[in-house]
Amino acid sequence: MKMQTTEGREAELKQDALDGLRMRLRGPLFLPGEAGHEESRSVWNAMIDRKPAVVARCRGVADVITCVQFARDNDMLLSIKGGGHNIAGLAAADGALMLDMSLMRGVWVDSQKKIAHAQAGCLLGDVDRETQVHGLAGVLGFVSATGIAGLTLGGGFGYLTRRWGWTSDNVVGMDLVTADARLVRASSDENADLFWGLRGGGGNFGVVTGIDYALYPVGPEVVGGVVAWPASEAPKVLELYRTLAEKAPPELTLVALMRPAPPAPWLPKDWHGKPIIALLACCSGRPEDGEKLVAPIKSFGKPIGDVLVRRPYAQMQSLLDATQPKGRRYYWKSEYLSRIEPALCEKAIEHAARIRSPHSAVILFQIAGALNQLEEGHSPVGNRDARYVLNITSAWEKEDEDRANIEWTRKAWEDMKRFSTGGTYVNFLTEDESAERIATALGKGLGRLAGVKAKWDPGNMFRTNRNVKPV
Ligand SMILES: Cc1cc2nc3c(=O)[nH]c(=O)nc-3n(C[C@H](O)[C@H](O)[C@H](O)COP(=O)(O)OP(=O)(O)OC[C@H]3O[C@@H](n4cnc5c(N)ncnc54)[C@H](O)[C@@H]3O)c2cc1C
Repeated sequence: MKMQTTEGREAELKQDALDGLRMRLRGPLFLPGEAGHEESRSVWNAMIDRKPAVVARCRGVADVITCVQFARDNDMLLSIKGGGHNIAGLAAADGALMLDMSLMRGVWVDSQKKIAHAQAGCLLGDVDRETQVHGLAGVLGFVSATGIAGLTLGGGFGYLTRRWGWTSDNVVGMDLVTADARLVRASSDENADLFWGLRGGGGNFGVVTGIDYALYPVGPEVVGGVVAWPASEAPKVLELYRTLAEKAPPELTLVALMRPAPPAPWLPKDWHGKPIIALLACCSGRPEDGEKLVAPIKSFGKPIGDVLVRRPYAQMQSLLDATQPKGRRYYWKSEYLSRIEPALCEKAIEHAARIRSPHSAVILFQIAGALNQLEEGHSPVGNRDARYVLNITSAWEKEDEDRANIEWTRKAWEDMKRFSTGGTYVNFLTEDESAERIATALGKGLGRLAGVKAKWDPGNMFRTNRNVKPV
């Protein structure tokens, strides 16, 4: 059968080599047409349709080592699928051996040391579910089906970022299978250079098999949820957002969203599909403090829906899930911001009014706090001046709507990028981003990353990612 070499040439993969691989693995191996292949190769963004030659659904570290050794012996392109949520579809590559990590979803919590060890195939919800048993949580993202590996390796932010920094700032160690098929540990006192590179440098250095996260007391109950108003109220609501966000303590994270109303049960039916503005809030501190902090939001104007209440933290972590299903077509443009300026608000309102699909949105995430207090070089994520994230997200169903939606996203971004810090989030970059923008996203640490790459993956075996060339 046909495969791609690491350098991207087409080559023949011998049947007996494949048979040998199948025999050595504990997890299943899927060829095109075999049950499981389609499910593995498909990713969250339906714009991506890549066809791996073979999928190995690894059942443990030994399977990962076997696959890396196989790819090496056969000079075969390798790709790694965590949660498959990367918008650029980096988990899948044509002609590759895809390592699907979805059977490796164990989580072990040490409640005394406040550390969770999670296997690299975990989704965010897996970790939240297990850590909440102990009243603890790690710093993870907003949508529970996102993979921990891709999110953490690129930085990661969510409702706890304001208190404790990027997700990757809260990693205490990782286990990794290297290009020469060895299992190594990366932490502040073992392979510290690798540890630095992994906390923002993506999957450039090997296959991560496990991640250890620092945990903090959070929940089980928090005050969180969303309040929505008609889009006509957007100027006033964004002004409220701007002023509240500036003085909010780190326990409170505020997100502003402008979009057509989703068909959610908490919104009146006659509002579904009509333009709204919503504020999403999560107060991860004491619920009684949270209630006071969100009172100005709940009492503001005449909302059309309000589900900003006391709720379990794990539920808060999946509140946005229904708006982000796998299988739609997605295109995003994103920038870091240092403040919310009135002029940016005007532009956001203007472009939200021109949204082309019922699923698209202009979103402002608040991330200011702990991450700003660490030095730029603390990890390759950098961007220690970022206080908000602007994400212009379009989502639609049909291929013939691609052009209109992409055009809307790009126009809005062209008009708003002047408010940027100059930095952008590597995990939000779409497939068509230029090399220059990828370099911008990888930031000031790019040279140092290239050095780590040269030491740990000089042959650039791990290249189906935001690739750093070895120097
Ligand atoms: C609906 C949605 C919500 C999101 N919300 C947030 C959010 O709240 N906060 C945030 O920070 N980001 C968020 N993101 C962005 C997210 O961080 C990235 O999409 C990330 O790449 C997803 O990780 P994954 O494992 O699911 O991705 P995948 O597509 O599986 O992989 C992404 C990259 O990581 C590499 N990789 C995966 N697993 C491994 C491994 N074990 N070892 C080495 N490399 C590996 C892959 O090869 C690929 O290059 C969101 C994305 C989506 C689609």
